Amino acid sequence: MRSSNYLLATLKETPSDAEIISHQLMMRAGMVRKLASGLYNWTPTGLRVLRKVEQVAREEMERAGAIEILMPMVQPADLWQESGRWQDYGPELLRLQDRHQRDFVLGPTHEEVISELVRKEVSSYKQLPLNLYQIQTKFRDEIRPRFGVMRSREFIMKDAYSFHTSEQCLQDTYQRMYAAYQNIFNRLGLEFRPVIADTGSIGGNASHEFHVLADSGEDAIAFSDSSDYAANVELAEAIASKAEADPATAEMTKVATPDAKTIKTLVEQFGVAAEKTVKTLIVHAANEAGEREGFVALLVRGDHELNEIKANKLAKVASPLTFASEAEIRAVIGAGPGSLGPVNLPIDMIIDREVAVTSDFAAGANEDGFHWFNINWGRDLAMPEVADLRNVKAGDLSPCGQGRLDIKRGIEVGHIFQLGTKYSDMMKVGVLNESGKHQNLIMGCYGIGVSRIVAAAIEQNHDEYGIKWPNSMAPFQVCILPMNMHKSARVQEVAEQLYAELQGAGFDVLFDDRKERPGVMFADIELIGIPHVVVVGERNLDEGCVELKNRRSGEKTTVSIADVVAHLK
Ligand code: ATP
Ligand code: MG
Ligand code: MG
Ligand code: MG
Repeated sequence: MRSSNYLLATLKETPSDAEIISHQLMMRAGMVRKLASGLYNWTPTGLRVLRKVEQVAREEMERAGAIEILMPMVQPADLWQESGRWQDYGPELLRLQDRHQRDFVLGPTHEEVISELVRKEVSSYKQLPLNLYQIQTKFRDEIRPRFGVMRSREFIMKDAYSFHTSEQCLQDTYQRMYAAYQNIFNRLGLEFRPVIADTGSIGGNASHEFHVLADSGEDAIAFSDSSDYAANVELAEAIASKAEADPATAEMTKVATPDAKTIKTLVEQFGVAAEKTVKTLIVHAANEAGEREGFVALLVRGDHELNEIKANKLAKVASPLTFASEAEIRAVIGAGPGSLGPVNLPIDMIIDREVAVTSDFAAGANEDGFHWFNINWGRDLAMPEVADLRNVKAGDLSPCGQGRLDIKRGIEVGHIFQLGTKYSDMMKVGVLNESGKHQNLIMGCYGIGVSRIVAAAIEQNHDEYGIKWPNSMAPFQVCILPMNMHKSARVQEVAEQLYAELQGAGFDVLFDDRKERPGVMFADIELIGIPHVVVVGERNLDEGCVELKNRRSGEKTTVSIADVVAHLK
């Protein structure tokens, strides 16, 4: 591709509405343009990256035995009535009518449609197991679309659905898909963690999410540092939807989903040395009926120096409803049966322990005691995570006694579910099994946020000059950057020759043939993040050489013209 025939669309200024680095860089590098809230155009560079992610996902799906299909984005409402989600899904589901006043939805996910397809096409156990996938556009009317394509309303998902007659067969496929997901994220060069997750509005028995670790992540991941255990605390979404309805909760949002700015304020105010020593505390509370319905999150230091911080100051940052004294915090945290033991523990110890005793913590507290953090959770939220957290800490109180809970922020890029017969029971998706009896099918479903991955990768791969793509995602693998080509026939000739050779060798090459100053060209190419730059300039040509620059390492090598292709292979 020649720059002169291409739409580079780079920007010098950072758009003011782009809050996080990936959104800023996707705008500046000319990858996306906003059309309306949560709706984006993918410009050529962005689309190239998106296609690379799709390709890796596609290859690994095929390798795992899944077969590609394509389902419509517009789905008839009667399928959603059958599954019960017409009632259950909530306002993220965009409903519309056609000219005959028939109801439809824009698909936020495709369990209903795949169930309809499979119940018509599959009638015998002999056709199973079956694992079908697509890479396609989804629409979710997100309450708060933000961070560019990270949380958009229209986005690209890879979604797969598997069908089985036995639980064991589902387990096998689930494990195969779990491994495929690991392959995908490894091939894309992402630092990620699989975590135990809530099944949310999709439903089902067991599920895992795959999170790219990044401070801008909207989810909180609880890690045990003494085992592989990790679980999603899934705060952000629950709080965000509650915050809309309730101004007091909106205030709490600042605390419960600490962003970099909040952490920075805390760090500055209390002179905390390193940001990583700041932790999030989650206190779960229960109402009189024993239902869990509240929590508070405080930001604290993770070490014992916390004692030096005056609790009332801490509380001011932690919550707009300030505590008068440390004793007041203790009174609240320590209230009720099953509470936290001796109140003379240092606060950070209490905080560590707190997670262990969430099950009965605060069960007997009077309502006033929790007034300030009484947030009603949606019915489908919180419970599994609380149980997961309890497991972690129960382990900690085991023989080794070493375990501690750590919380990091993550971006959910993939989610796999064991659905069981939830949809096949409702929608009667069944076959005749080996004994000739009718049986409803056991299902699994497996999603990857293809467009979100593009943004998540940038969160992990950038510097002050721009994006640093891993090879597998780069829009171009190599850029030929001729210096002052329009003044030197020799530079032009070698640049053209290398362009032809590299293309012939199968590289995706951008030939920057613009009449621009070298400084402008370098800045653009670094911003876009092309991994290898071949600089063709008069000075090196005297020795029959060009310079290769590696975007990730910054390393520069002088290589003879004849060796360029071999060097990049
Ligand atoms: P989130 O918790 O971020 O709202 P989700 O749990 O609702 O995501 P799933 O139903 O599990 O999403 O969908 C599978 C994948 O689709 C997610 O893991 C995520 O990577 C991606 N995804 C979901 N919502 C969006 C969105 N609004 N924009 C971009 N990608 C999304
Ligand atoms: Mg969601
Ligand atoms: Mg989620
Ligand atoms: Mg999910």
